[in-house]
Amino acid sequence: MFSLTGKIAIVTGASRGIGFALADGLAAAGAHVVAIARSAQPRVPFSHPVQYISADVSGAIGEVFAGVAQAHGRIDILVNAAGITLPGAQDEAALANFERSLQVNLTAPFACCLAARPHMPPGSSIINVTSIGSIVGLPDNPGYAAAKGGLRMLTKGLAVDYGSSGIRVNALAPGYIHTDMTAKSFSDPVLHEQRRAHTCLGRWGTVDDLLGAAIFLASNASSYITGHDLLVDGGWTAKGLV
Ligand code: NAP
Repeated sequence: MFSLTGKIAIVTGASRGIGFALADGLAAAGAHVVAIARSAQPRVPFSHPVQYISADVSGAIGEVFAGVAQAHGRIDILVNAAGITLPGAQDEAALANFERSLQVNLTAPFACCLAARPHMPPGSSIINVTSIGSIVGLPDNPGYAAAKGGLRMLTKGLAVDYGSSGIRVNALAPGYIHTDMTAKSFSDPVLHEQRRAHTCLGRWGTVDDLLGAAIFLASNASSYITGHDLLVDGGWTAKGLV
């Protein structure tokens, strides 16, 4: 039920961090994985066979997807994990950062969905990596909040639009996961403790904590689940009083 053997998967944002772990993990579960990010190479080699393509999801990504579909005949799984964070709500770059955040974190995932859909057979799965910031307000990052909230609702809208084609579209919403994106707060003792203490499980997440949920959403195990937010946040959003 959870096997991905024979499935063709694309994972964006896979040169490091969450996307890298999901690409490697989907390959371990049997998928043929095409990993995409801007870097010329992944930061470290994958542990499993993964095809790597250097590309910018905010650029001409349709050509990349068409190439994958031509080479493999179809696309069964799309994981939109590429993302950026550009904090600053008041500084002079705030508006430019807002627009760039929307471009990479919201418009690009939609462009990837548009590029993948014609090649996706019934039973295919799209996973949009959102954030707890798609559900609760977090400070000093309006572009990230707007983009991830938008991606959460885009997920539900596309679940409606693609449902009749048998394509499922779900959101995977991580809490605080230790990656480059969160390196600053992870290494700051006060910020680290604030984020740890707000979880129910009493710890930060690791990239590997997301893999089971991603395999679940990518596989037939979730065959009747679409338009769903799957929170993998250690209970961060469940907890009220800290
Ligand atoms: P990360 O370590 O900074 O990795 C981001 C990845 O996205 C890198 O592989 C980067 O590769 C790629 N990327 C960025 N811009 C791109 C572009 N224009 N085109 C193609 N690839 C691009 O961040 P992460 O923590 O793994 O985050 C992955 C996803 O999870 C993001 O969507 C993020 O918003 C989300 N998320 C993270 C957390 C967390 O706590 N870490 C929490 C909630 C949600 P290149 O630089 O090589 O392009």
